[in-house]
Amino acid sequence: MPEELWPKTCDCCRRKTLALGDAFCSACWDPWAKLSPLVQFAREPQEVEALLRRYEGAVDELQRRSCQHVAEQFEESVSAGSQAVISMPVAFFQDLKADKRTLYATYSLLVDIGARKPARPQDDANRRLVDTTLWGQSGQYVRTAALSLDGSGVSSYGEVWVTLDDICVAYRSIVLEENSFDFVERHGLGSERIKTRPYGYLATWIDRGKLAIAKCGLDLKADTKENDFIGILLFTEGQRNTDRFLEVHIYGGFNWDAIIAYKFDEKKLNASWGDKKKQEIEMIVVEAARSQADRS
Ligand SMILES: [Zn+2]
Repeated sequence: MPEELWPKTCDCCRRKTLALGDAFCSACWDPWAKLSPLVQFAREPQEVEALLRRYEGAVDELQRRSCQHVAEQFEESVSAGSQAVISMPVAFFQDLKADKRTLYATYSLLVDIGARKPARPQDDANRRLVDTTLWGQSGQYVRTAALSLDGSGVSSYGEVWVTLDDICVAYRSIVLEENSFDFVERHGLGSERIKTRPYGYLATWIDRGKLAIAKCGLDLKADTKENDFIGILLFTEGQRNTDRFLEVHIYGGFNWDAIIAYKFDEKKLNASWGDKKKQEIEMIVVEAARSQADRS
């Protein structure tokens, strides 16, 4: 029997994703995202040097407080174990899971092709302003996730949390110190005349541990335990104004093949749901536990 030619295996993520006629991989976006502008920005010498200065400042301060041991552990945990986690509504999750041809798209791409209604005019303008202020024309292609140590996502953005495989996103992503809306507001970037983004607040995937130290250094104490790292890196109680996390910006999308784990935000379980909704959620919780068990 001749070997089936299609689908072919992607050279980048090693998944069998390439169907005849495909221009890029639906899990890792290779080669479309190979020249990710976000990564180019993060590798600029001024950017790398500014991040290093902020990191060294935080390390000095941690040493003064005799917290260097905890800081080293925290940096190691983030560098080796943090992953990109996207929060999404149940319906989005089910669409992705049901069909590998479904791709995770951005708000502006969906609105521009008429596939979803725009948000209220002010919210629509803000979303687009933030994306273009940070990344110019490339902003429309950026999907955002939170950096997480345990697969938990930000509650206020959706009740299903999906973890993306590093191999599918690391090469084309950067990490921003905080939520992009807060970042643009804090630094006054969206005012009458768009200002240049300040250096030192974003990192390549490989340097995300340094950015986490620069941001979270003050939260580390001599008696901080390893278990506390999870909540220091990502704090969420379901309200966007109190969420604190580092935001992963991914250039390009993904499909179900990029997802390696998922879980349901159990704080969102609601006793007043109807039977159908309860069954749907129960299925997600059970399958998530099973896939977790298969991996460990
Ligand atoms: Zn791929």
